Amino acid sequence: MSLTRTTCPYCGVGCGVLAGVDGTIKGDPDHPANFGRLCSKGAALGETIDLEGRLLHPKVNGADTDWDTALDLVAQKFSAAIAEHGPESVAFYASGQLLTEDYYVANKLMKGFIGAANIDTNSRLCMASSVAGHKRAFGTDTVPGTYADLEQADLIVLVGSNLAWCHPVLYQRIAAAKDARPDMRIVNIDPRRTATTDLADTHLQIAPDGDIALFNGLLAHLVDGGKLDATFTGNHVNGVAEAISAARASNTADTGLTPHELNAFFTLWAQTEKVVTIYSQGVNQSSCGTDKVNAILNCHLATGRIGRAGAGPFSVTGQPNAMGGREVGGLANMLANHLELDNADHRQVVQDFWDSPTICTKPGLKAVDLFEACANGQIKALWVISTNPAVSLPDSDRVAAAIAKVQFVVTSDIMEKTDTNDLAHVLLPATGWGEKDGTVTNSERRISRQRAFLPAPGSARPDWEILSDVAARMGFSEAFDYQKPADIFAEYVALDTAASHIARDLDLSIFADADYAGLIPTQWPRNDHRFFVDGRFYHPDGKARMIAVTAPILSKPRFTLNTGRNRDQWHTMTRTGKSPRLGAHLAEPYVEVNPVDATDLGAAPGSLIAVESIYGRTLLRALITPRVAQGQLFAPMHWTRQRTTAGIVNSVTAPLTDPFSGQPALKSCTVTAQVY
Ligand code: SF4
Repeated sequence: MSLTRTTCPYCGVGCGVLAGVDGTIKGDPDHPANFGRLCSKGAALGETIDLEGRLLHPKVNGADTDWDTALDLVAQKFSAAIAEHGPESVAFYASGQLLTEDYYVANKLMKGFIGAANIDTNSRLCMASSVAGHKRAFGTDTVPGTYADLEQADLIVLVGSNLAWCHPVLYQRIAAAKDARPDMRIVNIDPRRTATTDLADTHLQIAPDGDIALFNGLLAHLVDGGKLDATFTGNHVNGVAEAISAARASNTADTGLTPHELNAFFTLWAQTEKVVTIYSQGVNQSSCGTDKVNAILNCHLATGRIGRAGAGPFSVTGQPNAMGGREVGGLANMLANHLELDNADHRQVVQDFWDSPTICTKPGLKAVDLFEACANGQIKALWVISTNPAVSLPDSDRVAAAIAKVQFVVTSDIMEKTDTNDLAHVLLPATGWGEKDGTVTNSERRISRQRAFLPAPGSARPDWEILSDVAARMGFSEAFDYQKPADIFAEYVALDTAASHIARDLDLSIFADADYAGLIPTQWPRNDHRFFVDGRFYHPDGKARMIAVTAPILSKPRFTLNTGRNRDQWHTMTRTGKSPRLGAHLAEPYVEVNPVDATDLGAAPGSLIAVESIYGRTLLRALITPRVAQGQLFAPMHWTRQRTTAGIVNSVTAPLTDPFSGQPALKSCTVTAQVY
């Protein structure tokens, strides 16, 4: 049987997959992200392609209908809201699961034709703080290195990242590198002991949100120890003195680490030239996430340990195409092709290229604010595409109530029953993984094809096509006259060419004459490229910025709730929930409780614990373990209201956001806990 070369639809590692219509799944030995490896989720993809529960036909108010009726209604409702209340009265909320072509069309419709920037995505929950931190430091949202850097490093520092469960194939690559070079050192910085800690030489069990104090302390240590690279910073970095001054004002006692632990880490970092700092949601999902990112970047910039083989900061993206979404401007504060929304020249280039009647002139609503605007009546028409915000946003009961208030809600989804679909007036059946064609970009800027190997079920259609048909019905048929995903990818590349006179990191010229059908996984701007080798950054003066960041004053509540992923589930379990094999790993919602706290609470293994905040409550099975420190709880975020009647985790989490990125602080929420 022939197998189709495609990519995994889960995490940002972006593994190549060989897939067959009978459910055969193999790792693609020729894909440079995984060289044939797959994790448990990727290996179980064949168990998730059945049609049970699929949304197969459009529905209006719960009744099956035809596409023309559904799309006419969507276009009419959006057009009417815009005519009566203006372009800011409508919004799209999309997903890092979308393919780049889907993202491009949604972004183009909202920003160039509707004329507002109210398109945000669940990438806001994932990487927004990294984006903001990159732009502050580099002038662009640039991931400098490649996966090969992780294998060439002598020291890997993993910050707020359970790589073993959340990016398993990267973890496997690092484990193999350490096996081959046992002198490689790995430091795991995490308030919780995780599966990733097993690989580490050192676990620094940091206080929640203690990262800025830690990296500020490291920066001060590097400067005091003569490790400031004065030549590099003198030629290529501004803001050095201010950042050092702010670092000196931090108190490393706020890290919760002992002086011995701190000194050992600082010394190891200072003495190791080839150091890669990998960071993920423990850094990003914080009310000070952007400052955490810049605290890390400051240390690399101060020492010139960036743009070199085996050295640099490395943000790993949670979702399969968060990077592709960022490239085509799929966030409310971005334009397209790494062009700037707040730059009139950039806007003009995009508007001219799109030949569009308008262009948004100010940032739109970021995810948490977008649903608040639903609650207060600003948003009259909402389109949710390939995501389930009624479960995944913090303070999710309020988000669900906010969606229910919107006059007209349309969702595009592969499944019929979801918490968000239950609130929608129109459901549009989308094709899913294995049924649709397009491209994705992984965490190392590598663009790969996702290819269809299954027929579209029922009357399901790809998202780009649904969006284009609505655009045509709103009067924009010429600009959205795409026949196939390759047409959209070609336009995306052509926009890059049209903007080539604007200095940016994005450069898609390698794809100008690409064979879309046979496209092999390719990094932009070119394979194995490492940014900043020449010390040139993208601020107007060509220099990077070290940013003065101040550690937050940490409160010490009785309990702090940390949330995250399980090894074998993905987001709200839409697909992974179908696999008995994956479900067997951790079968029900649980909360990790430290043994001392369990004794205090009178909890036994398996007790039901009521975890409550000012926002809501959930009941979770106690998993008593020293993996979490005293005063801390951890609960996975996967279970929906359809899978548990005991309350979902995001009913409890707080809608607090980072002031720069708008990313919610899903890793540390003040809660109470008691045995139920
Ligand atoms: Fe898929 Fe990520 Fe696993 Fe690779 S590591 S198989 S991309 S979930």
